[in-house]
Amino acid sequence: MDALKKRILQDGKCFEGGILKVDSFINHQMDPMLMHQIAQEFVNRFKEVKINKIVTIEASGIAPAIMVGFIMQLPVVFVKKKQPKTMENMLTTTVHSFTKDRDYTVCISNNFLTAEDHVLFIDDFLANGNASLGMIDLIKQAGATLSGMGFVIEKAFQNGGKILREKGVHVESLAIIEDLSNCEIKIR
Ligand code: 5GP
Repeated sequence: MDALKKRILQDGKCFEGGILKVDSFINHQMDPMLMHQIAQEFVNRFKEVKINKIVTIEASGIAPAIMVGFIMQLPVVFVKKKQPKTMENMLTTTVHSFTKDRDYTVCISNNFLTAEDHVLFIDDFLANGNASLGMIDLIKQAGATLSGMGFVIEKAFQNGGKILREKGVHVESLAIIEDLSNCEIKIR
């Protein structure tokens, strides 16, 4: 997706440890026009796939996910990183956070992720795949079907993409970062 790649090269910043900062247009300040183009690209790439629900994980997956849900006219659910006392029929799993280097118990209500659901998972980044593997576990617990996983940015020098594709998951990443070493952004 050329507009996204251009924007990453223009406004993205590299940090130690293979972290790409895109907080001026994706996950702090957000560019809704770019986000709309991103969502439209996901819709095109998954147009042959049976989907009835978009699922993401808070917080930075919510913006692209709700745009996809709006275009597809489908409900959007986000996995929560704190367990609300009032959540009914809670499903939980543990996810290791790449950026914060700690484990979270994340949750989703079985009321909103059910055995009838064909899920498109959307997130901002694919790094080591921990969030995605947690999502796969929740989908399994719910008896739902995973239709595909869409990432705004995949970092190809980390293992997540390989792990998910080897599991047979339909993965679509709109910008693939080959390398961030020497604080230089190399995009495929
Ligand atoms: P994974 O679970 O695939 O290891 O990492 C994905 C999650 O970590 C994403 O939801 C994203 O929030 C965060 N993340 C991973 N790598 C980066 C990065 O380079 N930059 C930013 N801003 N977030 C990242």
